[in-house]
Amino acid sequence: MNFRSPNSAAAPQVQLKTALPALTDPLIPLLKRLIPGSLAAVAMTASLQLEVWQPLERAAYGALFRLRGSTGWDSRVVVVDINDASLSKLGRFPLPRRHYATLLNQLTQAEPNIVVMDLIFSEQSPDDAQFIAAMKRHGSVVLAQAWDREGRPWIPLSSLKQVAIATGNILKIEDTDGIVRTIQSQVQTVPALGIAAIQSYGMIWHPILLPAPDQPLWINWSGATQQIPRYSFTDVITGRVPAQTFKDKVVVVGVSALGVDSLITPFHRNPPTSGVYLHATVINNLLQQNFLRLPDRRWLALFMLIGGIGFSVTLTGRKPIHQLVLWLGMCLSWAIACVLAFQIGVWLPVASPIVFLSFTTIAVILRDRQTLETKNQALQTLATVDGLTQIANRRHFDEYLNGEWKRLAREQLPLSVILCDVDFFKRYNDAYGHPAGDRCLQQVAQALRQAVQRPADLVARYGGEEFAVILPNTRVAGAVEVAEEIKLHLKAMEIVHETSEASAYVTLSLGISTTIPIPDLTPAILVATADLALYDAKKQGRDRYYVRVF
Ligand code: GH3
Ligand code: MG
Ligand code: MG
Repeated sequence: MNFRSPNSAAAPQVQLKTALPALTDPLIPLLKRLIPGSLAAVAMTASLQLEVWQPLERAAYGALFRLRGSTGWDSRVVVVDINDASLSKLGRFPLPRRHYATLLNQLTQAEPNIVVMDLIFSEQSPDDAQFIAAMKRHGSVVLAQAWDREGRPWIPLSSLKQVAIATGNILKIEDTDGIVRTIQSQVQTVPALGIAAIQSYGMIWHPILLPAPDQPLWINWSGATQQIPRYSFTDVITGRVPAQTFKDKVVVVGVSALGVDSLITPFHRNPPTSGVYLHATVINNLLQQNFLRLPDRRWLALFMLIGGIGFSVTLTGRKPIHQLVLWLGMCLSWAIACVLAFQIGVWLPVASPIVFLSFTTIAVILRDRQTLETKNQALQTLATVDGLTQIANRRHFDEYLNGEWKRLAREQLPLSVILCDVDFFKRYNDAYGHPAGDRCLQQVAQALRQAVQRPADLVARYGGEEFAVILPNTRVAGAVEVAEEIKLHLKAMEIVHETSEASAYVTLSLGISTTIPIPDLTPAILVATADLALYDAKKQGRDRYYVRVF
């Protein structure tokens, strides 16, 4: 018979994990709960800095305006429109300057008022003297200036500028989607036209609080232009509008004729409106002190970090349906909060927090899945592994034996079982104590593990101080070889057992049974035969094996 070397490095036959320490340690699960939210918050803060969600935010911006609807227009602001009807009567644009002189003369009748020209008078004209005289008589005309594409100033004639009360720039900042959302309060020391107008208006009435010059102003679009009091240029100059209409007003004069100065706002995309409404709206926002306010990004990032962690802690471990309901609830709540905040002029980011909540939810769901899988694995391990010896338990032994019995019955190949029982183990416990007995059983299990080498072999704790080995596709000779090997490994361990009558060290008695399984029978017969063989080994003096074949 061939003996394997007792020192041969035998691979552990079943690698089974112990139950997760995380199940017992309360701190680790808590930390794990924080992870998805924190990671999502960091990713989100970075993406906010990179403005990844800008297109979504812009779409939400339009939706917020439409949901809010129109706000009241300040009665102190009126528009005089050079519309298509005016042009068809007065000729092509630019109009002769005498018409503006007539306009000013009409408006002068209803003093005081501020006239804000959203028109640049940079060329000389034969009517200039007339226009200058009208400007002087009126005394409160604000003129516009701008810069051309090359950045060269595009300014009014100096003779006109001298008699103007102020000059303001009419630059507008169009976003990539064409919508104008902001203006600069000041460009190269020139205030925006609306700001210049309000400064002048404040001189007549009480001063009005002006924004810091370095700040971009977020326009609070008031709604449909139809609600703005506006009068056709021709109607005004022909005296069809009573002069009293303009008393105490800021009168913004500009072109609304199609295609001259188009402006896209959340309320006007198709067709666009005209640039004069931008300046009228800036004036309106200044008078009502209701430019849109945006939250500080740093506060927003902090809010998202804390909120994200809180949300991920709340979500973790819940049923997926509850997680989805929570996610939906949070998204809806945030959307409602945004709509409400918008009512009071605060533009909160809509899309990015919702994307963030979704990120967090996905991260938590993935994390939960992983935790569940790990727990299931741990439970599976608990169900199949013996806690003391970490080898397969009796349950696993029975299942495996059944499976192998059926398989080998089909294939008509031999199946061997070895039952092993520690000799005089009661005495061992009595002599060295129960804990030492436990350690002894662990060592015996290790000896068994070292002795079997094929992947299909299974070592199990059969019960108490009894162990069992399943050797599929193994004849008697092979089983005997394994039994010898077990004895050798145990012997090499030299576990002292002074009260044993069989040896000075811990020994095993082994019962070997081999058969070619019969499909109609159960493997119980194989185990029972091995038990008989074990009994024989005990009877014949222990520390030996006995074989029974049937
Ligand atoms: P024999 O040689 O005839 O097998 O004698 P024995 O003393 O080994 O047999 P017996 O069945 O009388 O005693 C088995 C002992 O094994 C009794 C029991 O206390 C002990 N035992 C069973 N399970 C454990 C265990 O998990 N740990 C410890 N320490 N002892 C155990
Ligand atoms: Mg026993
Ligand atoms: Mg025993």
